[in-house]
Formats: sequence, C-alpha cells, structure tokens
Amino acid sequence: MRPAVLFPLFRPVTSLPGLGPRLGKLAEKLAGPHVTDLLWHLPCGIIDRRLSPKIAAAPNGQIATLEVRVESHVPPINPRHPFKVRCVDETGVIELVYFHARGDWVQKMLPIGRMVVISGKVEWFHDTPQMPHPDAVVPADQRDELERVEPVYPMTAGLPAKTLRKAVRAALDLVPELPEWQDPAWLARQGWPRWSDALHRAHHPEDEADLGLSTAHRRRLAFDELLANQLALALVREHQRTLSGRAVKGDGRLREPVERALPFHLTGSQRMALAEIFGDMAADARMLRLLQGDVGSGKTVVALLAMLNAVEAGHQAVLMAPTEILARQHAESLAPLCWAAKVEIGLLTGRDKGKARERVLERLASGELPLVIGTHAIFQEDVAFKDLALAVIDEQHRFGVHQRLQLSAKGRGVDVLVMTATPIPRTLTLTAYGDMDVSRLTEKPPGRKPVDTRTVALDRLEDVVGGIHRKVAEGARVYWVCPLVDESEQLDLAAATERHAYLRATFGERVGLVHGKMRGADKDAVMHDFAAGRLDVLVATTVIEVGVNVPEATVMVVEHAERFGLAQLHQLRGRVGRGEGASICLLLFDPQLTETARQRLKIMRDTEDGFLIAEEDLRLRGSGELLGTRQSGLPEFRMADLAEHGELLAAARDDARLIVERDPALAGERGQALKTLLYLFDRDSAAKTLRSG
Ligand code: ADP
Ligand code: MG
Repeated sequence: MRPAVLFPLFRPVTSLPGLGPRLGKLAEKLAGPHVTDLLWHLPCGIIDRRLSPKIAAAPNGQIATLEVRVESHVPPINPRHPFKVRCVDETGVIELVYFHARGDWVQKMLPIGRMVVISGKVEWFHDTPQMPHPDAVVPADQRDELERVEPVYPMTAGLPAKTLRKAVRAALDLVPELPEWQDPAWLARQGWPRWSDALHRAHHPEDEADLGLSTAHRRRLAFDELLANQLALALVREHQRTLSGRAVKGDGRLREPVERALPFHLTGSQRMALAEIFGDMAADARMLRLLQGDVGSGKTVVALLAMLNAVEAGHQAVLMAPTEILARQHAESLAPLCWAAKVEIGLLTGRDKGKARERVLERLASGELPLVIGTHAIFQEDVAFKDLALAVIDEQHRFGVHQRLQLSAKGRGVDVLVMTATPIPRTLTLTAYGDMDVSRLTEKPPGRKPVDTRTVALDRLEDVVGGIHRKVAEGARVYWVCPLVDESEQLDLAAATERHAYLRATFGERVGLVHGKMRGADKDAVMHDFAAGRLDVLVATTVIEVGVNVPEATVMVVEHAERFGLAQLHQLRGRVGRGEGASICLLLFDPQLTETARQRLKIMRDTEDGFLIAEEDLRLRGSGELLGTRQSGLPEFRMADLAEHGELLAAARDDARLIVERDPALAGERGQALKTLLYLFDRDSAAKTLRSG
C-alpha cells in the first residue's frame, strides 16, 4: 500500500484551488491526473519582475514593476478605443491601457488615489510610457504577493497561466518532509539539496540558469526518478530470480527436422542468439533475456526453435503477440514448420470464443497442446497450462513489466524471452529492461535488398499517385500509410477513409482499407487479400506497423511522415524490401517543415541502420520527445532527460543493484525511504513484489 505521507500528493489535481472540473480537466491533460503530476510540471522560462525603476526611467520594451498612484480614468470615446488609467510617481506619468475593459472592473481594481504596484511590459509611445494590460496589479501594501521572478510553465489553451501557477504553488504546499532515500555520502559528494528543497528550487527559479538540466536541483530530481526506475526493475528481476527456475534441455529431435524444413540457413547471429538462449534455459536460474533485432532480422524462427527446445524436454511454451493480426500471422507461418516436427501449435486470441476456445483451454491444461500463440487473452485467469516452461513475448514494448510478471506466474520457473524490433539506444534499453541479458541479431538475412528512400513534399501528391500507378501497372504491391491526424481515432479514420476513396478513384477496385476500428475478421480478410495479391494498394492507419510480412510488397508510402517517430518510420519501411523486387519508400511531408523535422527525415533517407536511427533521434530530439515513447511503452521520464542525464542512469543502475543485494526486502532505514520513492514515482507494482516475494 502507498504510504500515508504520500496521500496528499496523489489527490486529483481538481482538488487544488482554482482548478474546478473544467480547468482541472485542462490541467490534467497538460500535466496529469494527480498532484504529483503538477509537481513534475516544471517551468520552461521565467519573467523577471525585479527591475523596479521610477516611471521616468522605465526602459522601453522591458518588464518592469512600478509603484504608482492612480491619478485619473480616461474612458474610451467609442468601444474600439481602450480604457486608459493614468498613474503617477514623483518622476512622471504612465498610462495603463485596457482594450475591451469594463469600466466598473477598472474602477474596482484601480480606484483613483490608490497606491498600487503594477508589473508588465513598458512601451514608450511618443513621450509617454504606457503599460498595455499589466500582468499584475496589486495594492502597494500587498507587494509581497507579486513573485519577483515568476516561473513560466508550459501551457495549454484555455488554462490561464495565473491559475496554473496558483495550483502548482498549492501543490508545492502539500509536499511533505520525506525521509532521505539517497545515500548521504553520494548526496554530499554531488552537492545536491534535499528532495523537497530541490523541488522548490525547480519551481522558483531565480534566473535562467536555474532552469538548466545540469543544475544541482535538477540533477537531484532526475536521479531520484532514475533510481526509482532502476530499483523497480532490479526488484522485479530479483523477484523472478528468487522464484526458482529449472533446467530445460531438449535433445534436438524436434528442432532438427524444423531446421531442415527451413528454406534458408540460419544466420550467424541467429545461431549465436540461440546458443545464448539454450544456455539460459539449461541453467537452473530463470531466463530473462531480451532478443533485439531489427525488423526482418528473423526473430520469429529463433523464438520457434527456443519453444521447441522446451517441448523436447516435455514442457509447454507460449508466444505472445501484441495484436490479433500478428498472432494470426505467426500461427500461419509457424504451423507448417511445426508440422515438419509433427508438433501442433494452437492459437488463442480475444476473438476465439465458445467451444473452440474451451477446447484450446482444455488441451493446454491437460498438456496435450504443447505450443500456443496468443494475445493479451492469454493473461486471463481461466488460461492454465499443465507445464509452461517458456514464454516468448514478441514486440514486448506493448506489454508492461506487470504483465510480464503475470505471465510467468502461469508456470513454474518460466523462462522469459522478450523480443523487440524497436531499435532502442543502449541508454533506453537500460530504462526499459534494466539489467536484462541481451542478445542482438545484427545481421540481416541474406537477400534483403536496400530500400530506396525518398522524401517528397505533399503538394506533389498527384505526381506520387502517377508514379505509383506506373508501379502498380508493372505488378507492384503498395502500402499506403495514412497520418495520425491527432489523438482522435475518429479523425485518423476519416483521413484514411478519404484517402482510400481518392485512391479508388484512380486505381479502381483493387485498393483495400484496414484500420484499428475494424472488426478483427474484416481486418484479416483485407490483409489476406493484400497478401494474396487480390489487392494492389493497401491503405492503412498504423495498424500494419508491427511485424506484418508480405514479401511481394515493394512500395511503402507514408503520408505526413514528419508526424511519425523515426522508430515508427523505420518499422514501417521495414515492411518492404523483404522479397525479390527492388523496393522504394516514399516519405511524404508537409512542406512547412521545421528544421528538426527536416533533419529527421534526412536521417531516414541516409541510413537503414535502426540503431543509428535511434541514436540520432535521441540526439536530435532529446529522450523526452523521442516520438513513439508513449506508443512504445518505454518509460517516460518527467524529471530526467536521457540525452542530458545519461551518466546518472548508469549510476542509478549501480546503486539499485547494490541496494537489492544488501537489502532485497527494503526493510532497513534507507530501504523504507526507498519504498516511499517507488510509490512517489508510481512504481507500485515493483513495490508489491516485495510483499509477494
Ligand atoms: P522479425 O525479426 O522482424 O520478426 P521475421 O522473423 O518475421 O523478422 O523474419 C522475416 C523474414 O525473414 C521471414 O520471411 C523469415 O522467414 C525470413 N528469414 C528469417 N531468417 C532467415 C534467414 N536466416 N535467411 C533468410 N531468410 C530468413
Ligand atoms: Mg517479428
């Protein structure tokens, strides 16, 4: 359970002053649902109100804070003119200028004769200084209410800056004194402040430099977050280790016929990965291994051979896919191979219901069915195995650590192999998987052809369609990926539907459409038609993103490529270049491209090396923005910026490792404090392993 000291920080943002249901919703969209989320919402700039001259010395174009007396009101002659308020000090006159102001409002705030402090931008007009719409007006005796240096927060439309500032201040007031979770010697060496001081400092910058990522307070906050992340992963890993594993060692009698049935030879890196996997499986400890390999590097066959190893030893194995389409595709491509070894492979997805589903469940429970491929449906409670020994999780980024745990609870000492095609830079691998063992498929299977990648401005759409028409006439098969219009699936769908209609007008009937809102069976039918060559063009939202294999497809068009993450574009491009023909990838972009977007597309044009692309992406955008982090399930950091704090991540990993070694139950004094840290950063599921383990 979350410690009680943290309760105030996990109240909804709507409980903060000024944030009712409507503005609260905006704050929630901007920062997140809880008070903590506002604490992590740090200023991106400052307004310095410390300059406090006399009127005559107020510099043109600068923010100044002036103490003045209200002298007179000048109401507008007609509604298009502003309401002016003349104020004075002993050096001169300044005019406050309000457009569309109601007279009574001005009267109330600035009654004649009152001494007030005003703050805002000064503009000299002829020989008179003016202050149009001052940012702040307070009675002179309440001057302290003005922040001398005002933090500027990232905003969202409709949420007034003042309201947000006030809410953040209220959130800061809720911050309790928490026990120190960092090692005191390390803190001293770094010269870092306490957590609450660091947080206050981050929200009350004194100058621009205080906003920097390399300040002591920011590094402290970043390190806290990274330590929470690394400690959570280390605990999960430790937990898995303590659930005893078992030695699984097949004799090759199933793997051999399957390998012989393959229409190709395994690459060196496939063999290497398999040797590592078999080594792990044969050991008493549980395997927790990441198999990283670019799109098309041939991870599936590695998975199959690992699974067969488990079956040879008399156990069962499961392959988890992130989507229905992929589960079915795996089932289709693996079934014939399994036949070579006379092993049956089942399929269990959310779509399988009734009798058929029951039958699969029965046969899994009895052990009659040795292999199964599935989606999330496999997590359901009624799915039981007789003797599950290996779980392979494909494209794991869609599944959380928590689900990984659930899955391994379905057997005794289940070995886990996680496969990912997301070319994650080293630093990010650490954040997502901690100290997992890693095998990498570095070679592509022979025969892969390079993909000719071009960037084309969207205003040349007609030329593109013309070019594609010629390709189709020569027999090409084309993916046409529609943009993510915005967060709304509805609009994305509208765009795809419209493009589908447009292309049908040009190409006729042989244009299909597949999108996320379609029923599973309909999706399959369209994919099938495309794979079988009954469709020339497949218009799709990003549902085809992961893993689909149609070797005959040679053209990939991505609309509004600038809106996709590089990792995503790389995945999409990986759909072509898989077969005999030469392939092209057209990245259509909005001509009003930012410089960064232009550089990112250039990277896509220049290289097909997924790891290089990922590293460049990280460099160009910073980890926080690495598009696709949200979709990819990589942890999103609020305080840490991996481009900036990479070396802190390594330190956090080492620290986490030591902590788990010395006090795996987090029972000691520092351990208790670290538990609070885990909850503070929402790593509840890791904290829970402490109890259950
Ligand atoms: P991914 O790593 O993206 O999951 P797949 O496992 O789907 O890649 O493999 C892509 C294609 O490459 C499949 O058609 C597969 O049969 C083929 N393939 C796998 N390994 C080899 C190999 N060693 N030589 C040639 N083709 C291979
Ligand atoms: Mg795959």
